[in-house]
Amino acid sequence: MALCLYDPDDGYYKTKSCIGAQGDFITAPEISQLFGEIIAFWLINQWQQEPAILPRHLIELGPGRGTLMADILRTLNKINSDYICNLTVHLVETSPTLIAQQQHLLSSYGHTVVWHATLLELTAKLPKQHCYFIANEFFDALPIQQLQWHNQAWHQRVIQQQSIDNSLCWDLIPFQGLIPYETYYPLPQHGNILEFSLQQLQHVDLICQHIRQGHNAALIIDYGYDYFSYGDTFQAMHQHQYVSPLEDSGQCDLTAHINFAALAQHGHKYNLNTQLLTQAEFLINYGIDARLRQLLQANPMQTDALKSGYDRLVDMKQMGELFKVLILQ
Ligand code: SAH
Repeated sequence: MALCLYDPDDGYYKTKSCIGAQGDFITAPEISQLFGEIIAFWLINQWQQEPAILPRHLIELGPGRGTLMADILRTLNKINSDYICNLTVHLVETSPTLIAQQQHLLSSYGHTVVWHATLLELTAKLPKQHCYFIANEFFDALPIQQLQWHNQAWHQRVIQQQSIDNSLCWDLIPFQGLIPYETYYPLPQHGNILEFSLQQLQHVDLICQHIRQGHNAALIIDYGYDYFSYGDTFQAMHQHQYVSPLEDSGQCDLTAHINFAALAQHGHKYNLNTQLLTQAEFLINYGIDARLRQLLQANPMQTDALKSGYDRLVDMKQMGELFKVLILQ
């Protein structure tokens, strides 16, 4: 997964323009401006408990085309410029194509924007307080490992190349490592698949370490499950269709669903105020219905587009329930 996504020459994120109608998948901020606006309301909600004018740092992991950050900055600029007169935006991005798009889009909002290659590099430089982390569909791109319960033991599922025709196939090899939060899983049955991602946990570790210093917060949004369970969620997408992850290596978006129960356990481990909501709950709690009404009133010609965007984000059969929001404070 790491090789296919991040190889410096042929990796998916190094070579492809992945997001949007021309790309392989579409994300919430690309569906509706409401998404970024509600995240801006969440930020204001955090900041209302502090003096208005402070140096603040807004950090986005994997900002894609920059649309989410643009919607957030536009909304913040409108609501109260005191909150952001001393704001620095930090973007953690690996794709050169997307960095160019972000530079272009975000240059007109009047805030300093700094790019970083990794979260590790960034957290070493950030001040201790007033840092706000946002990640939408970033964690699902971080590589996972899969184990399978076979003959009363966990085995690692690996991908091998077959010598006859060089095609890729699944295989099982003995596994001897540690499984994060193993005791939280139900008793395994023959064939069960367990997924975990050390990279995801390392990223949450860095965020939690920063947040526990006080006056910091994070929002992690992605598709995933909120209890410890088994299942194969490894998937490949190409031009908005599910395809085999073993074909066209480096050409497809490879992801897996997030085990939010494990990420939330990390928050508890650091004694943080940890809240796990569905995307629908989060957007409704922070005012998406009132904002939709305002937009409909101001733009009656766009009624259909606004309503269908809202439905895609909030409807339980669309993104409303599958997508979760982990709030760490
Ligand atoms: N948040 C955006 C894009 C999601 S796609 C949106 O909601 O539209 C995933 C994003 O994460 C892309 O910008 C991709 O280039 C970036 N990314 C993936 N893996 C990364 C990594 N290991 N380090 C930094 N950025 C990464």
